[in-house]
Amino acid sequence: MPVQGSIEVNDLYCKGCELCVQACPKHVIGIAMDYLTPRGYHPARLVADGCTGCEICAIVCPDAAITVYRRARARRNGR
Ligand code: SF4
Ligand code: SF4
Repeated sequence: MPVQGSIEVNDLYCKGCELCVQACPKHVIGIAMDYLTPRGYHPARLVADGCTGCEICAIVCPDAAITVYRRARARRNGR
């Protein structure tokens, strides 16, 4: 069954190192240049559709700042 993913970045941990941006095979993570975290970093954000929930970003993040959510994609019944 097709899976749709999304991520949540914990701004208290993210330091904007961009490792997740480079690692994401779908290229759907970017750095929010218009926002600073409480620690003074530009944090990572999901910036496009297409996340598969593969968890690569969460695995490479050295600060365990990313939580990945996965759910089955709703199927259309043709009507
Ligand atoms: S790898 Fe982690 S700390 Fe680095 S930008 Fe991504 S979420 Fe932030
Ligand atoms: S879970 Fe996979 S596809 Fe989704 S943002 Fe992270 S690395 Fe990219």
